[in-house]
Amino acid sequence: MSQGCNTILVVDDVSANLQLLSDVLHRKGYQVRCAESGSAALAAVRLSKPDLILLDIAMPDLDGYVVCQEIKADPALQDIPIIFLSAADEAPDKVRAFEVGGADYVTKPFNLKEMMARIKHQLNLQSARLEIQRLNIELEARVQRRTAELERANNELRNEVIERRRAEKKLIFDTLHDELTQLPNRTLFMERVAQALSCARRSPCYQFAVLFLDLDRFKIVNDSLGHAVGDQLLIEIARKINSCLGPQDTVARLGGDEFTILLEDIQGGQDAVKMAERLQAAITQHIYLEGHRIVTSASIGIAMGGSHYQQLQAVLRDADIAMYQAKGMGRACYAMFDQDMYLKNLRLLRMESDLRQALERDEFVLHYQPIISLKTGRLAGFEALVRWQHPIDGMVSPGEFIALSEDTGMIVPLGAWVLREACRQMRQWRDVYPAAASLRMSVNLASKQLQEPGFAQRVDYILEETGVPGQDLRLELTESMLMERTEETIQVLQQLRDRNIQLSIDDFGTGYSSLSYLHRFPVTTLKIDRSFVGKMNRDTENFEIVRTVMALAHTLSMEVVAEGVETLEQSSQLRDLGCEYGQGYFFSRPLDQETASEFLVETMHWQVDASDDEVAYKSDIHPRSRRAKPVVRQGVSWQQLGEAG
Ligand code: C2E
Ligand code: MG
Ligand code: MG
Repeated sequence: MSQGCNTILVVDDVSANLQLLSDVLHRKGYQVRCAESGSAALAAVRLSKPDLILLDIAMPDLDGYVVCQEIKADPALQDIPIIFLSAADEAPDKVRAFEVGGADYVTKPFNLKEMMARIKHQLNLQSARLEIQRLNIELEARVQRRTAELERANNELRNEVIERRRAEKKLIFDTLHDELTQLPNRTLFMERVAQALSCARRSPCYQFAVLFLDLDRFKIVNDSLGHAVGDQLLIEIARKINSCLGPQDTVARLGGDEFTILLEDIQGGQDAVKMAERLQAAITQHIYLEGHRIVTSASIGIAMGGSHYQQLQAVLRDADIAMYQAKGMGRACYAMFDQDMYLKNLRLLRMESDLRQALERDEFVLHYQPIISLKTGRLAGFEALVRWQHPIDGMVSPGEFIALSEDTGMIVPLGAWVLREACRQMRQWRDVYPAAASLRMSVNLASKQLQEPGFAQRVDYILEETGVPGQDLRLELTESMLMERTEETIQVLQQLRDRNIQLSIDDFGTGYSSLSYLHRFPVTTLKIDRSFVGKMNRDTENFEIVRTVMALAHTLSMEVVAEGVETLEQSSQLRDLGCEYGQGYFFSRPLDQETASEFLVETMHWQVDASDDEVAYKSDIHPRSRRAKPVVRQGVSWQQLGEAG
């Protein structure tokens, strides 16, 4: 520190002392201020703060100690170093001088060199103190800054940790839940089932149930009202299911319209059944979505869980099998899993894999059921009906495998085989028997076949290959096929009609087709379902239905084939109503190729009218027939020609 800028206040009541010190200090380069009394010194210090004070002790008004005390009591001034000036005999007061806060002590007469050294020492000390103070303040500020920075970093870190935890939680939630409904997904559901299963293994009286729920005809909602409404419906269904459950139960969405429910710690199957009924009651209540009133229902399969299950997946599998069973029973049904279902399912699975090889192994055969003209009583054609000669199970009826082959897509190659085989057979009959010239072959179609691009061309190819004219082929469609993808279907049907192929609606009356739409489809024939024909009786509702359908068909210039004609009476009634054709056990069961050939050869004609006693039975036995003329009065007896008799 340069002495030049230091100000020293010299306090002494003796002017000569003041003068002397002032001169010496001036010369040494200090700025000097003087005060001749204690009170003057205090006033001077408060006016402007000196860097050091030389303070005489013995003064008349306030002595040096009092002045020092006052200064040290003032926080703004207390850091000024004070060197006491005292006569030599006042030595005992040195202790007091330090007690009141003095920094040093110089005795008179002054040794100037010593005094200057002490002044310099004190100023240096003071300047060092100030420097330390400054550094301290700076340090403090730096520490504060660093602390603030640290705190900020800390906060950021804490937020990051919170954010990461939240993201982690969400990730865990997402991997265990269904995005649409926010319900647990398969993974979480299976975890819960695993827990229930280990509970059951620990305590054998612990029972649980898994319910497999599938909405009925959800696809229709999705296809007709769009996926957005479909999604909303699923959310609404999830909410309804949840509202039926207890706090310990779990509901999950497996995907699509499939939900599973785990009922824990229940008393027995009755509890699961009650829950299934409660769920169905809730689900069948209609829902309004975007202005649509939607009525839906669910099929539910129940599997009772317990220690008898070795494998976790088996519980869900069995509930699924039971659900399929329930679906087969109609809408809004439930079924409880049992071992028979399991075996049936195994058979179905085996059948599915066998079915894939059946075509290559040439295991399919066609049987032919005669269709009779009710006007003339003569054979008008055949319906080709496929059968599967299973190497182990024997003859399997189409009722058992057609739906399966539709599900697996197998129906496309199988259907093509049926069509080709039926046409080939027709060609062969025509080549051998003149009587076959006027016959028409009916072949059933599945919706997947119709949806195959280029279907009409494929039919062309088969007709050409087998040399059967289009007009002698009748393709049988179901009502539901017409209601799917209506516009595209009409186009394909029109292409078939352009080739003169006859088109028939099979099982008419059992589907959902709207009568008012019928005229839009280029169909030529209605086949009244056998459920109406079977219970037809002149005064029943079914009779009216058959009559109405007949009238409708004729208005639209369509012909009618009655299916399932089993008695002469039905045949008569149908003829009276103007029905063109009949098909059923009364005339004949479906026949294998050989028997059908014999049938054709005999070119018989039937009694179709009960009142027509005269022509109770006529048969023109064909010369090539190997059969004796049947000694029968009514067509029923021709059953002996049939497959099962
Ligand atoms: P569908 O086309 O309605 O065929 C008539 C079914 O009724 C045949 O059963 C026939 O045996 C039976 N039936 C005929 N007359 C009578 C009768 O008087 N009383 C009774 N109770 N039943 C009678 P099948 O042969 O078991 O065929 C069942 C269904 O399988 C067929 O019903 C048809 O929808 C389907 N189907 C058969 N063959 C084929 C095929 O090649 N392709 C496709 N897509 N479906 C086929
Ligand atoms: Mg048919
Ligand atoms: Mg039918």
